Amino acid sequence: MFKKWLAGLTAVELPGPVPDAPAVRMQAVRKVYQTGAGEFEALKGIDLVVEPGEFVAVVGKSGSGKSTLINMITGIDRPTGGELWVAGTPVHTLTENQIAVWRGRTVGVVFQFFQLLPTLTALENVMLPMDFCEMYADHERSERARGLLELVGVGDQADKLPANLSGGQQQRVAIARSLANDPPLLVADEPTGNLDSRTAAAVIDLFNQLAGEGKTILMVTHDQELAEQSSRILTVAEGRIATAFSEDSRHE
Ligand code: ADP
Ligand code: MG
Repeated sequence: MFKKWLAGLTAVELPGPVPDAPAVRMQAVRKVYQTGAGEFEALKGIDLVVEPGEFVAVVGKSGSGKSTLINMITGIDRPTGGELWVAGTPVHTLTENQIAVWRGRTVGVVFQFFQLLPTLTALENVMLPMDFCEMYADHERSERARGLLELVGVGDQADKLPANLSGGQQQRVAIARSLANDPPLLVADEPTGNLDSRTAAAVIDLFNQLAGEGKTILMVTHDQELAEQSSRILTVAEGRIATAFSEDSRHE
């Protein structure tokens, strides 16, 4: 069943990459949830452009719509209205199958609770997205995974199970996994929420390094100090973008 579904996915066609497109472009994006108490508008018309290589911190009160916003960008959830392009791909027009394939190749996702598979080693966890998307030849995958673990500073933990790693090490493995298919965009929802402040700072340094290499990074955080290490802070309030200012304007 799973194999058949996977085989079906490899046949899915996607629109090709668009050179020079913004990393993310949202236009009038709305999200309405159906709840027991009726409809709830979690996003009330978001307009946003993020350029390649930006490291954007998304901040705002709990319940303001941060996770909803970034779940639109990863395709984990779909907008109710408006338009959304990622690297030139019109995500709002893709079918569910197209989204699954597109996400595997285009977006690296990092979660607050790491979400590593407990029965797989660190190395196997990093190889999984390559297997899933049939990216890279079989024999290249373990070498590539090892290289990514080294890049994020846990090369020596490759053969351990997640339970035998610290929280910070697990998050590094999760970041290595998010980079498995060399996606142009990394999206992280409170990735430092379960890390001590020193480890959190190291994760932010890593994101800055990756942004310097051209990756685009969107990170939700509660921590104003960490947010200030990004290249741009985006504040979400009641389903809208409240203020967006660049590093330059902050230092004026
Ligand atoms: P944040 O990440 O900023 O804390 P969320 O994006 O998770 O906020 O949620 C924004 C609002 O949308 C909240 O009021 C939340 O209760 C509501 N919400 C989120 N997901 C759902 C859902 N699946 N069904 C109904 N309401 C939801
Ligand atoms: Mg959230």
